Amino acid sequence: MKLHEYQSKQLFSKYGVPIPRGRIALTAHEAKSIAQELGGRVVIKAQVLVGGRGKAGGIRLAHTPEEAEEAATQVLGMRINGLPVRKVLVDEAAEIRSEIYLGVTNDRAFFSPVMMASAEGGVDIEEVARTHPDKIVRVCIDPLLGLHEHQARFLAVAIELGRDHWREFIGIACGLYQAFITSDATLAEINPLVITGDNRLLALDGKMVLDDNALFRHSDLAEMRDMDEEEAIEREARRFGLSYVKLDGTIGCMVNGAGLAMATMDVIKLFGGEPANFLDIGGGAGADKVAAALQLILKDPNVKVVMFNIFGGITRCDEVAKGILTALDQIETDLPMVARLVGTNEEEGRRILAAADMVTATSLADAAEKAVAFSEKG
Ligand code: GDP
Ligand code: MN
Repeated sequence: MKLHEYQSKQLFSKYGVPIPRGRIALTAHEAKSIAQELGGRVVIKAQVLVGGRGKAGGIRLAHTPEEAEEAATQVLGMRINGLPVRKVLVDEAAEIRSEIYLGVTNDRAFFSPVMMASAEGGVDIEEVARTHPDKIVRVCIDPLLGLHEHQARFLAVAIELGRDHWREFIGIACGLYQAFITSDATLAEINPLVITGDNRLLALDGKMVLDDNALFRHSDLAEMRDMDEEEAIEREARRFGLSYVKLDGTIGCMVNGAGLAMATMDVIKLFGGEPANFLDIGGGAGADKVAAALQLILKDPNVKVVMFNIFGGITRCDEVAKGILTALDQIETDLPMVARLVGTNEEEGRRILAAADMVTATSLADAAEKAVAFSEKG
């Protein structure tokens, strides 16, 4: 479960992380009065459960309450990555001298939480991670001992933070780790952690992902779930007995079996593509279920191509093929589709799909390669 920026920052602040003053607004009018209350410049920030809001125009600076109202009107009318903006955070604006990245997550390679820091925080951190991985420094944290002060100091030194900020930085790193560990989070991140005009450290953005399997022991956090967001499609999926997780890529995937779905995503990535979702239609899915699943995939505006990977055991390939055609009768779409069907009644399944002008493939690699090629065409 993802938390909104404002929820994450409030949680961080409980653990001593300094955050800007600010409040949530549901209307532009409210945004204006919060701006009046705060006095001076504010930032209007879209609260949607996706990253990259800054680049999408969801973060606006306003100098007066009137400008804040205007900016909030615009941001509240936006969709970011397909999600409508229903609320904005109105924060006191900060003057930024530099932007640091600080995050903690679990690292499978080290079997432990890992804290990461970079002097080059901000909206391009993914780019930094890709092109200059050396600019991100890491420390492994023993889950029994917790984050040691000396480890936080090591990070401060490694990112060449001025000595006058070390104490503050160590406090923030320890607070972030506490927030992470006590909430059973899988990610807690501050990006950017800024050095302000008056030379203080301040967490301008916050992101937290909580472990759904641990929510039963955090009823206060579970209540923060935003029913309006991320959930709509997932709720619908549950209704049809489908397990669906939305991701950020462009290749919609329909697969039977969780393990096969994971393998499919891996192979898509191997060929340089990004899956738009994880979707397991389960064993023995009939035409109706397949149609419902395809409808779900096509609701995601990021999807540029749909890839089917069906292993026909209990599920029969011809049933799946019929389901795909049933769905296509109901939905208007000109997206390319690639299907790999193997197993029970595969020839029949492929014949049905080929007759409907669908690209078919015999191996997973072949299907992934074709899907990736379509996704790159734009
Ligand atoms: P994200 O794009 O979803 O990660 O949203 P962020 O909250 O990280 O904001 C994106 C960028 O907007 C930051 O990296 C800053 O450069 C800028 N920004 C955010 N808040 C402020 C602020 O108070 N003052 C100024 N000057 N810039 C800000
Ligand atoms: Mn950010």
